[in-house]
Amino acid sequence: MSERTLVLIKPDAVQRGLAGEILSRYERKGLRIVALEQRNAEGSVLDEHYAEHVEKPWYHELRDFMQTGPLLAFVLEGDSAVSIVRALNGATDGRKAEPGTIRGDFSISNQANLVHGSDSLESAEREIGIWFPEA
Ligand code: ADP
Ligand code: MG
Repeated sequence: MSERTLVLIKPDAVQRGLAGEILSRYERKGLRIVALEQRNAEGSVLDEHYAEHVEKPWYHELRDFMQTGPLLAFVLEGDSAVSIVRALNGATDGRKAEPGTIRGDFSISNQANLVHGSDSLESAEREIGIWFPEA
């Protein structure tokens, strides 16, 4: 079943020059890029995007981190896109993520972990609506 999912290549990845490497992993897997935009994330957009986390003690740090530079926002489409992107991304904490995953290969942080991928079909539709309201 073809699905759509929302991906962010976070500012740490863009600053480190890893955007191409990361994007190519999704592409080589077989997912299709439907929309792609470089953005400076506004606080209000991040608050919506991370609605489930805004009350967490670490949220303000995350919000600041997400505004340290431009990020890439895009939609990927393909069979099982939601779960495939989560698998390619790896566990949230880069120190614990499996080698071979994006976070496992390139991150040693639970905050600066390079990528975001929607965690369910429902989240994907909600998040696509936030970042690409016209899509
Ligand atoms: P995921 O991005 O894997 O879905 P979560 O939804 O749990 O992970 O968290 C959202 C983002 O918040 C993470 O990707 C990470 O950047 C950040 N984060 C999660 N947990 C922490 C934490 N304990 N301290 C700081 N930042 C965190
Ligand atoms: Mg999440």
